[in-house]
Amino acid sequence: MTDQFYANAESFVSWLERRVIEDARGDREDERQSKPGDRFWLGRLATEAEARRIAATERVMRLDPCAVGFTFQPQAKPPWRWLVTFQCKTWRAQGSKDEKRWYKSKAITAHVKVEIGADASVTHRFGEDEIRKAFTDNGDDHHFGLIEVEINCDTERPLVTVTVVNQSPEISGRDDAFYEVSLSVDVGSIQPFILDSLPDSFRYDRRVDAYGVNCGVDYLDGTLTTADFVCADRYRPCYWDETLGSPPSLRFDDLSRDPKPLVARLLDALEQWVERDWGRDALDARATIEGWSESMVAEAILESGKARDEVRRCRDGLKLLDTPLVLRAFKLMNRAFVYSGQGKYDSWRPFQIGFLLAALSGIVHEGSAARSEVSTLWFATGGGKTETYLAAIVFAAFYDRLSGKTSGLTAWSRFPLRMLSLQQTQRFADALAAAERVRREEAIDGDPISLGYFVGNNGTPNRVRQDPKSGEADADDPAMPARYQVLLYCPFCRDEKLRLTFDESTWCLCHQCTNSQCSWPTSEALPFYVVDEEIYRFLPTVVVGTLDKAASIAIQAAMRGFYAAPLGKCTGPSHGFTYASRSAAPNGCLVPGCQFSKTGLPQPEARFAPRLRIQDELHLLADSLGAIDSHYETLLDHLTTSAGGPIPKILASSATLMGFKGQVRALYDRDGAAFPLPGPSDARSFWSLATAEKMRRFVALAPRGKTQEFANDRIAESLQQAIRDFIASPVELSREAKVDPRYADRLVDYYGVHVIYGSKLRDVEGAARSLESQPPADPTNVATLTGSTALSSVLAVLRRLQAPETEFADRIHIVCASAMMSHGVDVDRFNVMTMIGMPLKTSEFIQTSARIGRRYPGLLIVLHRMAVERDAKIFRSFAMFVRHGDRLIEPIAITRNSRRVLERTAPGMFMSDVLGLYEPDWLSKGNKALTTPKELRKYVRSRVNFQDVETRSMEDALRVDPESQSPMVVQLENYVGELMSNINDPAAPAKFTSDLAPGKVLISLRDVEERIPIREAIS
Ligand SMILES: [Zn+2]
Ligand SMILES: [Zn+2]
Repeated sequence: MTDQFYANAESFVSWLERRVIEDARGDREDERQSKPGDRFWLGRLATEAEARRIAATERVMRLDPCAVGFTFQPQAKPPWRWLVTFQCKTWRAQGSKDEKRWYKSKAITAHVKVEIGADASVTHRFGEDEIRKAFTDNGDDHHFGLIEVEINCDTERPLVTVTVVNQSPEISGRDDAFYEVSLSVDVGSIQPFILDSLPDSFRYDRRVDAYGVNCGVDYLDGTLTTADFVCADRYRPCYWDETLGSPPSLRFDDLSRDPKPLVARLLDALEQWVERDWGRDALDARATIEGWSESMVAEAILESGKARDEVRRCRDGLKLLDTPLVLRAFKLMNRAFVYSGQGKYDSWRPFQIGFLLAALSGIVHEGSAARSEVSTLWFATGGGKTETYLAAIVFAAFYDRLSGKTSGLTAWSRFPLRMLSLQQTQRFADALAAAERVRREEAIDGDPISLGYFVGNNGTPNRVRQDPKSGEADADDPAMPARYQVLLYCPFCRDEKLRLTFDESTWCLCHQCTNSQCSWPTSEALPFYVVDEEIYRFLPTVVVGTLDKAASIAIQAAMRGFYAAPLGKCTGPSHGFTYASRSAAPNGCLVPGCQFSKTGLPQPEARFAPRLRIQDELHLLADSLGAIDSHYETLLDHLTTSAGGPIPKILASSATLMGFKGQVRALYDRDGAAFPLPGPSDARSFWSLATAEKMRRFVALAPRGKTQEFANDRIAESLQQAIRDFIASPVELSREAKVDPRYADRLVDYYGVHVIYGSKLRDVEGAARSLESQPPADPTNVATLTGSTALSSVLAVLRRLQAPETEFADRIHIVCASAMMSHGVDVDRFNVMTMIGMPLKTSEFIQTSARIGRRYPGLLIVLHRMAVERDAKIFRSFAMFVRHGDRLIEPIAITRNSRRVLERTAPGMFMSDVLGLYEPDWLSKGNKALTTPKELRKYVRSRVNFQDVETRSMEDALRVDPESQSPMVVQLENYVGELMSNINDPAAPAKFTSDLAPGKVLISLRDVEERIPIREAIS
């Protein structure tokens, strides 16, 4: 990306950062009306007395330190002789009470010689005279301070802390604080600190020069200097190592014609890279230079073996392209991306092709070891995650159609958030529409390739009825369809003018394109379904949805199409597949009042099981959510195999590889394989290398003497003012910002939106309220994006962000957002963000920061809550945290062996068996539905030893060994025993079959958490 604009954008980001810091410190003001202490929140030092008072009374709200400095390890032994330079400014009031004005002093500088003898004792004080003189020379007899040197000899090397302390007396009506404080010491050589060792430490540089005390610290040419903020940069990755020569073309177009030679060239280069960079010579050389320990060498050699294994996996994928059907599906997939990528991108990144190749055998071959492996995309390397899934999905869809699967799901893709991102959904729709276009061009048999958006009752309806209940949409309300617009534009022609209609004759809620030029007929609904019941009826090729909807398999008989075959097909026009009969649906058709008869299935039953199950962001499946989901994952496999189908290949993605194999084992009872593996050093692998282009600038700020909220408001003000000043005087300020004024408009476009992110809803709402009551500039247009924002409002905000109004004043200036936007909200205009406090989870920090700087450099300002221990700790080694964040993600500890979790999931396991396995079998023999206890008893009596049957079935679902006599087995046996006594007790107070199960069937996998707020009003 050799883009002139890019370099200008980097300069502009630096300028914005400077403006925020200068405003916070007061650099650009020399006089003011109100008290400086009420305004400035960086670079200042309170008096010792004030700091003590705040610490005693306010504890958590704010910190107001009276000392700044740093801790380091001198290279030389004492005696030490250093020159300390202290600098600050002060403010003094003049004039009478009513016309009081504050004036800033010029810089006051004191040089203090520090000498510490060989017998270094604990605390030394220096500079009282020098500092007092520096003030009095400026006519200031109020302020004064001193230098403290503290020495700790308990560690291997002496640890030295140098600080400056504000010891000014408190005088009413004056401002006792120091402003724009800086402290520097010429310490000479220092011994860096080494951060705690982590398993793969050979990959990382773990040295930290020094730690700041209440501030950041810079070390340059033997001098340590305090900094008012801590910063770190991340660089934009590139996806090809130029030292390997030119890359093979991975253009969709080329791969759609003759992919094998191109893929072969890619893998040759991979092999060459691995032999070179992971080779023994390369590792030995690094071991010598970097002083690796023996265990680090051993670790590196072990990891190099894994890299070779990765080559082998990719080669297996290439070999599969010799199979004609596989080759054709691969080519068609690429052709689909020619269509869906149009105007945006035209080729793959090597790692995307690598991932597909490594997973290919498992996608293609049923029953293979590769099929049961969970292929996990490790996406810390850079963007393109969704397209990587889509490559696999579209390939699988074609492979299915070409091998005779004409209907049913190819993939069920689940996202761990409560609200699935519309943009991500759109990208799925784009890819599948393109695939459908190719299917038509090639006249490949089968249903249209289609997409279902499966989040029912959390944004879209479960069903449409004329007399709607909760979770249902009103068929007679003409305004109803428009509320459920999910697509942002037509996936076939990109036209934004979509019409939402409800078609009573087919009972479908339709997205329709109104563009007469569209390749999809305007008279037909787009192949896109948003109502749960329509998804059951049509079984779209791909279903995207939220994680918790898996709970429906124990509640909804029509979920059978997600793991096995439906029971039949209705002969009514576009009525779709049928399921177990119910009183309201006598033939099992889900269209209300259907009078039609049903007919057989269009293909063998076993072909309905989806080929792929996809789990996005595995690392979010932690704690109770992960534990509960683990039971449902293996339950799904159990239902599939019991119904005679092959288990699906599982593809997943994760932000971290820490403990990932254990997590995959716990979640799926399967092996996990990660791709791509990290390279031999943190910034380099075959698949991704850091460039010199800044991608994100991280700035950590610790507000002094003011609350987080106050600092957040001031930053918003600075940023809004900066951009408005820039618009008002582009030439002058372009000079100041060192940018080319020709880019002024574009810079305003890309840096004119400020995102304020809070991981707590309270913080987001607080920030929005504060901006409303005291707008930082006039006008300030604020939008809020949280989990409770109505779908239509989210849509409207995204539209405005993507296609901003011509006039700056009309645009959205600030977006206050919660975790809802940390996943899949991709707006290239998000480049400036403030984070209120460190999110509790490192993964959230990484995810959220990835929302900015997608195309051009981004600026992320993190407001640390220094009173919170974790925030303070991260602030201390912030640069390290940013650089190594992905390995600092807390390992995910989940267990499937939890009695408490089994208590919650056992009723669902039983009901899934009833709905998915027993009832279809019972109905096929001409019996009634198993909805009542009476009918279930009849069924149970018809089975030989039902108690054993159900016990074995639940053991299979839970993947426990009946011989093991583990507590889980015992608990299961007891559970089924209790169930049997309910079934056998005719007096049991049960109205429905589910009432017979001891305990309640989970409605959502999140049942244990707080319930999802249902949107109160949709305007
Ligand atoms: Zn269209
Ligand atoms: Zn029907």
